[in-house]
Amino acid sequence: VKVYFAVFTDTNKKPEGVIVVLHDVTEQQKLDCMRREFVANVSHELRTPITSIKSYTETLLDGAVEDHETTEHFLNVINAEADRMTRLVKDLLQLSRLDNQQMSWKIEKVAINDMVKDIVGRMQLQAVQKKQKLESYVIGDIPSINADKDRLEQVVVNIISNALKYTPDDGIITVYVGKLINDIYIKVADTGIGIPKESLQLVFDRFYRVDKARSRDLGGTGLGLSIAKEIVEAQGGTITIASEVGKGTEVTVRLPLNL
Ligand code: ADP
Repeated sequence: VKVYFAVFTDTNKKPEGVIVVLHDVTEQQKLDCMRREFVANVSHELRTPITSIKSYTETLLDGAVEDHETTEHFLNVINAEADRMTRLVKDLLQLSRLDNQQMSWKIEKVAINDMVKDIVGRMQLQAVQKKQKLESYVIGDIPSINADKDRLEQVVVNIISNALKYTPDDGIITVYVGKLINDIYIKVADTGIGIPKESLQLVFDRFYRVDKARSRDLGGTGLGLSIAKEIVEAQGGTITIASEVGKGTEVTVRLPLNL
């Protein structure tokens, strides 16, 4: 805690009193530290694809372009790296809009059960490619809630894609929608690799990944869950995660009914 000595003076600069401003330095320092860390992370994440694009381009310019097969392979890598940068910048812009409260919310009546069924339908193809079973269950009657449908869809798609990504072939991903007292719950359970206990609370942190290389290979930016958390909390809800290594993961979104 920092003590700041400030003197009140009258027009002749004669002291009339003093005030003490207490500053919580630790909180401020923590924020500064987080901001520095974030900038370092962003720089690193952007530099990785740039370095890769640069080296593949240079190799092509140095003569590899003569070989058609190599050229095609390198161009595919360059293209994928550019896509990664696009995703990253898109996620960063969205986080920045959420941080600065510049996000424009489009609140409408949303039937969560229909929304979840639609999403699960659209994501079947991805599941089939990995021979995974992706199913959804709606428990009881689910009243509509006031929310931003596109943003909620983004959250659910993100959680289900994580479940698909971090679950090996032949796994099972189950989505439950239910109502409990004054809340709607969406739970996504998978039979995947799971998350170690010590990492569980960190997965909502920006850029945190249990396994950096694995997430990168799967096209992740490490920002998905932090964006999901901001979106859900901005709409008065919460998002929680439970997991057991080697058994699977459960992500639960709670949304209040009386919005
Ligand atoms: P990413 O783009 O890396 O997937 P996220 O913010 O969506 O970033 O998730 C952060 C990290 O949490 C992931 O890198 C992964 O380590 C872990 N994770 C998220 N969902 C799951 C899941 N269903 N099973 C196992 N690990 C998960």
